[in-house]
Amino acid sequence: MQTQTALLDLSLDELTQLMRDLGQPAYRARQVWEWIYRRYAGDFEQMTDLPQALRRTLAEKTTLRLLTPVAEMVSAGRDTLKVLFRLRDGQTIEAVLMLYDRRRTLCISSQAGCAMGCTFCATAQGGLARNLSAGEIVAQVLYFARYLADPASLPQTGVERPSTVTNIVLMGMGEPMHNYQNVWTALRRLTAAEGFGLGARAITLSTVGLAPMIDRMADEGLQIGLAVSLHAPNDDLRARLVPVNKAYPVDEVLAAVARYTAKTHRRVTFEYALMRGINDSAELAEELAQKIQHLLCHVNLIPLNPIPNSPYQPSSEADTERFVEILRSHGISATVRLRRGIEINAGCGQLRRALAA
Ligand code: SAH
Repeated sequence: MQTQTALLDLSLDELTQLMRDLGQPAYRARQVWEWIYRRYAGDFEQMTDLPQALRRTLAEKTTLRLLTPVAEMVSAGRDTLKVLFRLRDGQTIEAVLMLYDRRRTLCISSQAGCAMGCTFCATAQGGLARNLSAGEIVAQVLYFARYLADPASLPQTGVERPSTVTNIVLMGMGEPMHNYQNVWTALRRLTAAEGFGLGARAITLSTVGLAPMIDRMADEGLQIGLAVSLHAPNDDLRARLVPVNKAYPVDEVLAAVARYTAKTHRRVTFEYALMRGINDSAELAEELAQKIQHLLCHVNLIPLNPIPNSPYQPSSEADTERFVEILRSHGISATVRLRRGIEINAGCGQLRRALAA
């Protein structure tokens, strides 16, 4: 029912106005806000300190449910959980929860689909459907916060029972900097002390490299981590993998990163998906090292998740090792990302595609 106001899309001021319109005192807005962001209430019945009549009115005129889970998959190790959600207009998005020893990292989406067209990415194949609202971005986090807070709902794992979301990565579907406004409204809500209250440093935004937006992020004054999807050290190769490189070539992206680190003193992560025979040679590792060794950075080498109808395959272990070693020999910090949830299609828009097929 699109006619119901989405409370998660409202700021505290807007919620206060809504309460006023309902003839309620302003403090009711604070109460509801707390129920949503501090106590993770999923419906109005839980809000026991609100008058019954108000709960009914809210349930009639407004909604907290922007997402409906339509498919859930748990990895064999029971440490990765992926959920496909349907939005109110029928679009679908994915989010993935990863349980580590001490971290419970949530990977969320910023758009339904994506317009960037990276040739190795499953999300790109369907194009962009639309931007997510700030509320739809926040709703993904609240869904898993609720899930983790409920001991009965956890996949049984060997790790100590995680009870809350400790880290968020904007590495799901979509290009967060192509939906800048809504993403930053959501990030402020997630980090605000009177909102979800997660430390900004526990959040990482991953971008395809929209250079002007990297500059804009540097001015936000919030310590959100930045990851940049590089995947190749030169324009010829990168434009084949990441078409938006034609608009923002490698040197422009790296210059924006240099300005970003100068301003924020924060180390930037470069993501580099290793593809067999495409971007994994010793020469390219050398070229990459030359390009980035002056930067305050870390390189995260990602074993490629092969996707249907794509010629790209993951690099061999030996080539991956060689690539890491070359970067390290130049004093560059580099690691190979753990493969998580591959068998449940946890990577990159794959569950949505598999179910749509
Ligand atoms: N639009 C953002 C977030 C994309 S998803 C960005 O471009 O950074 C997060 C990371 O996964 C990106 O680095 C993306 O390039 C990478 N990725 C996409 N498809 C992949 C695949 N099939 N295998 C491995 N990594 C992939």
